[in-house]
Amino acid sequence: MRDYVKLTDRDNVAVVTHDVAKGVEIMPGLPLRDDIPQAHKFALVDIPKDGEIIRYGVVLGYALDEIKQGSWINEHMLRLPVSPSLDNMPWGTNIVTNLPEPPVKTFMGYKNPDGFYAGTRNILGIQTTVQCVQGVLNVAVEKIKRELLPKYPNVDDVVAVNHAYGCGVAINAPNAKFPIRALRNIARHPNFGGQLMVVSLGCEKLTVDMLVGAENNTPDNVVVLQECKGYDAMINAIMNLAEKKLQVLDKRRREELPLSDLLVGMQCGGSDAFSGVSANPSAGYAADMLVKGGATVMFSEVTEVRDGVNFIAERCVSEQVRDKLASEMRWYDNYLAAEQVDRSANPAPGNKKGGLSNIVEKAMGSIAKSGTSPIVEVLSPAERPTKHGMIYAATPASDMVCGPSQLASGIGLQVFMTGRGTPYGLAAAPVIKVCSRNEMKAQWEDVIDISAGAVVTGEKTIQEVGTELFNFIIDVASGRKKPYTEQYGLHNFLCIFNPAPIT
Ligand code: CA
Repeated sequence: MRDYVKLTDRDNVAVVTHDVAKGVEIMPGLPLRDDIPQAHKFALVDIPKDGEIIRYGVVLGYALDEIKQGSWINEHMLRLPVSPSLDNMPWGTNIVTNLPEPPVKTFMGYKNPDGFYAGTRNILGIQTTVQCVQGVLNVAVEKIKRELLPKYPNVDDVVAVNHAYGCGVAINAPNAKFPIRALRNIARHPNFGGQLMVVSLGCEKLTVDMLVGAENNTPDNVVVLQECKGYDAMINAIMNLAEKKLQVLDKRRREELPLSDLLVGMQCGGSDAFSGVSANPSAGYAADMLVKGGATVMFSEVTEVRDGVNFIAERCVSEQVRDKLASEMRWYDNYLAAEQVDRSANPAPGNKKGGLSNIVEKAMGSIAKSGTSPIVEVLSPAERPTKHGMIYAATPASDMVCGPSQLASGIGLQVFMTGRGTPYGLAAAPVIKVCSRNEMKAQWEDVIDISAGAVVTGEKTIQEVGTELFNFIIDVASGRKKPYTEQYGLHNFLCIFNPAPIT
């Protein structure tokens, strides 16, 4: 087992793979000057005041004071560099085409009538126009699961698409397009099989027409609570409509489909300094295999890629894609600046405890999950892709906001990398957990699906864990396996990104 990881020849720091005490000779002739916690950095050479601190071959920051060889480098010891400029970013200068060959090129999915990506699950999704209906709908959903679902064995689940938007909001504000688009596209999610069912209150700002289109606003799709005479009538109306939808959904069957029908989302949360060494590069390898096999993979999280945006631009296949990337980043820079914050607000205390000194270091790890394949399209939050291949969707990095945004984009499942651990999950699509270190897997043996920890210790390669993850993705997409979050029903509330005013 190795004691430290140095990523590129240019790096002047390395990361320890376990807690190492002061005085230990970490490499011949290099005794440590401090106790170094697992995943934290130490200086490989003397770094002068204002000198560059380099990891991933990238300048993470500048030393606030002189740092002696063998010293611990933590978040208090470096100054952030300026973000890369968004003007005239070189594009198409790093187009990799020799991607790893996947072991299989098909999966078992649910083809949809609209020709969009296939479903990985067969779910009755019940949409809501407004939060006011949530209490009634939740009671009805429990009753549907108890009394109706057992009669329709080909349907996996019934999911209430609850959200906090819909009323008390500036519905015509320019930025209202973000939450409205997200909710419209979630209603069309491939796992819902084209069956629309909406529960509306009746007086809300987000009307049924706005949510699903006037052509779908019929009694065959919609229950309006204010039109029901009393509580029992509300529950009965929802039950009756649900049963009709379940009858249709029960006829859906999985079929063998090419990987071009599969859309996979990637995100990370609770990252540590190993995320960029083990879990994210392994996910990147699986992503390369998926893309090589014809699938589409989406990665996101603006504030976590902003400091490495030039590495995304150089993989863009056209000037238009590069321009969309720059404009999405600019929008977010302005969004943050309006509240006098910047991307340095991103890292959480847990990230720092996990050895991530700043957002530059976090970004380099975060981008690793996208592998090496060309970027064929850039999307605004919650837009649906129109291309196949690696796609960047410019969502917030918050796990609870990125998840619903990618759901709206139509992901069949999400792969979620973590260093510190989170039980986050989505009701409408399976979430696979990949952890960056063995201790995390030991702590949450029955929550984490795949550990990339053996990459840190040098016992497995990125290719081995990446292939293991690829195979698990195909098994989950095909319904042969369920990740732990799905087995337990761990489902987070859908925080829909809303940059528009609340009234
Ligand atoms: Ca995240």
